[in-house]
Amino acid sequence: MSVFEYAPAPESRSIVDIASSYGLFIDGDFVDGTSGTSFKTINPATEEVLSEVSEADAADVDRAVAAARRAHDKVWSTMAGAERAKYLFRIARIIAERAREFAVLESLDNGKPIRESRDVDVPLVAQWFFYYAGWADKLDHVGLGVRPRPLGVAGQVIPWNFPLMMLAWKVAPALAAGNTVVLKPAETTPLTALLFAEVCQQADLPAGVVNIVTGAGATGQALVEHPGIDKVAFTGSTAVGKAIARSVAGTNKQVTLELGGKAANIVFDDAPIDQAVEGIVNGIFFNQGHVCCAGSRLLVQENVAEELLVRLKARMSTLRVGDPLDKNTDVGAINSREQLNRITDLTAAGDAEGAERWSPECVLPDNGFWFKPTIFTGVTQAHRIAREEIFGPVLSVLTFRTPDEAVAKANNTPYGLSAGVWTEKGSRILAIAGQLRAGVVWANTFNKFDPASPFGGYKESGHGREGGKQGLAAYLQAQEGDR
Ligand code: NAD
Repeated sequence: MSVFEYAPAPESRSIVDIASSYGLFIDGDFVDGTSGTSFKTINPATEEVLSEVSEADAADVDRAVAAARRAHDKVWSTMAGAERAKYLFRIARIIAERAREFAVLESLDNGKPIRESRDVDVPLVAQWFFYYAGWADKLDHVGLGVRPRPLGVAGQVIPWNFPLMMLAWKVAPALAAGNTVVLKPAETTPLTALLFAEVCQQADLPAGVVNIVTGAGATGQALVEHPGIDKVAFTGSTAVGKAIARSVAGTNKQVTLELGGKAANIVFDDAPIDQAVEGIVNGIFFNQGHVCCAGSRLLVQENVAEELLVRLKARMSTLRVGDPLDKNTDVGAINSREQLNRITDLTAAGDAEGAERWSPECVLPDNGFWFKPTIFTGVTQAHRIAREEIFGPVLSVLTFRTPDEAVAKANNTPYGLSAGVWTEKGSRILAIAGQLRAGVVWANTFNKFDPASPFGGYKESGHGREGGKQGLAAYLQAQEGDR
């Protein structure tokens, strides 16, 4: 299929001001790390070093937790909910005002297309803070009796795929409920969290309510194992989630885990095919497929599979892969060399196990980390590419004949985060959705998020919910008499 030639439309990066180095954000100020060690954060589209960021060690985590405890006990947990709301509304407004700055910085540090950081990530971040700001003085209506209490200090660890959005999902409900937080962003994407720290200063948020410690897995481990925290909120891989669950077992810490996924996107033969093709593309190529709830297994009814694949390939041939800051780009850079290696290895296993690979023609940039949008057909349920999370722009296509077979195949996974159903019949949507073991089921759409809607998984996709009042309840406890 011929594609229009588009002139380059690069978003200017002059709006962001990246410092050559960053310290840790503890007790309201940027401070040096105790060990003096730092790590580089790069632009995955060019491999250009963007900045050097302090690596927090156990002593730094200790300082951050102590600051959060003081702020919790003296200021934040005793403040009226309506007052806390004012700070959260202020943060939401500042994010909306500085949206372009956040979007450009996120695309630079993460590699995601500016079209997505500008139109999806950052607007949702502002919405999350607006939504939970509205809850801060209504905690009596969460369902935990009157005057539920915050848990205390939350230790929050987040991944690199939606750096600022994951921060918002964690920080906004925690603060609305009266907790204070120590947050560790992912090591490849710390910059928007550090810009958020500046927003906290700009909003005059009391010192110690939000603390940000940068570093890799060891920093995250020091945080979740710290005896001074009351709640662990983790989003990341299932392997690390299991290690965290083991480490907090036997303590009084509350835990929510948002882990991996291998979602089925089920297309029945009565579905509007072009609409389904858009949903499939959005389901797996949005954010380069670095999405825990990505529709990475397409289950298509056998009698429409051929036609659907022709249309899907035609649509994929129009996807523009390249410079994340170009406003025409649909698919940006893979976040790191390590992730690119993981995708390359798993897709090689797909070839070796006999599945058939197809990608559209596209020229990839010379520098940086890139992977062509890819589909595999002839996939069986036993193939690794049908079972393991690839976390990249790779779709495994399987077929089914009957609704029961679709449900059985969809549920045949250790994960259970999300699923999609495409059909013209409302009754079929309800019947199928009720049988899918997935925390979120989208009908005739995919990858839609709303702060009022709870999100989370079954089985190895974790436990607990984020978003909605369920996400708020995860940061609260009932008064003694109400239990
Ligand atoms: P990861 O588990 O390697 O890292 C996630 C975070 O945990 C990072 O900040 C990392 O530094 C930290 N970490 C690593 N080891 C740790 C340890 N032992 N103790 C404490 N913290 C530690 O995952 P990743 O590769 O960065 O992210 C991709 C994974 O995240 C995918 O599996 C994806 O499905 C999942 N994810 C899930 C959701 C969800 O909501 N369910 C959302 C986004 C990503």
